[in-house]
Amino acid sequence: MLAALVAALLLMFSLRRCPVPTTAEDLQEPPEYLLLIHGGAGNIQRGILHDTLDVQYREGLLGALVVGHRILEAGGTALEAVEAVVMFLEDHALFNAGRGAVFTHEGRNELDASIMDGSTGMAGAVAGVTTVRNPITAARRVMEQTPHVLLIGGGAEQFAREQGLETKEPSWFFTQHRYDRWRASLEQSEGHGTVGAVALDMHGNLAAATSTGGMSNKRYGRVGDVPIIGAGTWASNESCAVSCTGWGEYFIRNAVAHDVAARMLYQNIGLKEAAHKAIHENVAAQGGYGGLIAIDKAGNYTFEFSSTGMFRGILFPDGKTVVMIYDDETETP
Ligand code: ASP
Repeated sequence: MLAALVAALLLMFSLRRCPVPTTAEDLQEPPEYLLLIHGGAGNIQRGILHDTLDVQYREGLLGALVVGHRILEAGGTALEAVEAVVMFLEDHALFNAGRGAVFTHEGRNELDASIMDGSTGMAGAVAGVTTVRNPITAARRVMEQTPHVLLIGGGAEQFAREQGLETKEPSWFFTQHRYDRWRASLEQSEGHGTVGAVALDMHGNLAAATSTGGMSNKRYGRVGDVPIIGAGTWASNESCAVSCTGWGEYFIRNAVAHDVAARMLYQNIGLKEAAHKAIHENVAAQGGYGGLIAIDKAGNYTFEFSSTGMFRGILFPDGKTVVMIYDDETETP
C-alpha cells in the first residue's frame, strides 16, 4: 500500500517540468526552490542495515520530501518547509529526534532542536525537553514569540505548554529498537538519526532546522550542537543555510554551521569547498565525525560527510526526489 503510494507520488512528480540544477555550483540562475534533508550521519556501510530497514529509512526520507514539496510548490516559505519536514521526521520512530530519540545514561529521552530564518536572521532553540512532541515547533515559537534564542529544560517545557503546543508522556518517545541498543551499549556514546532540513523558497529565502535526541548515554544535562545556533544550524540569505549531524562536541568547538557561511563570505569560496573544509579540515581532522547539508542563495547545494554514510535526500524544483544512505550514492544520474 505504502509502496504503491510512493510509486504514484514519484510518477506524479516526474511529470512536472521546471529547470533542474544538475550539479552543484554550475547554476546560471537560482532554481525555483530546493530542499535538502538529512536523517543523521554515522557508520552506515552497505550490509549494516537489513533490507527492510534500508527500505523503511528511504520511505521515511521520501515522506519528508513529499511534505516539503507540497509547501514549496504552493509558494510556502523555506521556514514553513523546514519546520514541517523536521516535524514529520520527529514523529517518525526510526529517526533520533522526537519519537524514537536515543536514551540518556539515566534512561530518558531528552530532546534538542533549533531553527533559523535566513530572511530575518532570527533564530530559536530548545534543549533538554522531555514532553514536547515536536521540539522544532517549540524552537520556532521561541524565535517568534520571545525575545530569547534558547530555552532549556523545565522553562522550555512551561513555555511550550503556555503556547498550547502538544505534549506527550515520556513513553511516547520510547522505541524498543533504541532501548535495546542503549541496553546493549551502556558504556558507549553514539548518535545516528538526528534530522535536519535546509530550503530555498520561491521568494529567494533560505532557512534551516535541526532536531535530535542527542548522543545516547549522554550525562549531566549534556547539550550538543543541535540547539546551538552557529554550531548545528545556520541560515542567512546573504550566504547559505546549513544543518549538521554528528559528534556534537566537535561541531560546537568549530562552530561548523556558521563556519561554512563565514568561509564563503571571508574567503570568497563556493559552498561546496567551504563545507568540505569545515567538515574535513576541522571535525574529521580533530578525530570527530559527521556531516552537513547546505544550500546557498544561488541554489547551489552540497551533502558533505566524513562518515561512511548519511541518511539524506533532495527535492528538485521539478518535483524529482532522490534519497540516499551510503557514500557511493549520488543524486545525479
Ligand atoms: N549532533 C548530535 C549531538 O551531538 C548527534 C547526531 O547528530 O548524531 O547531539
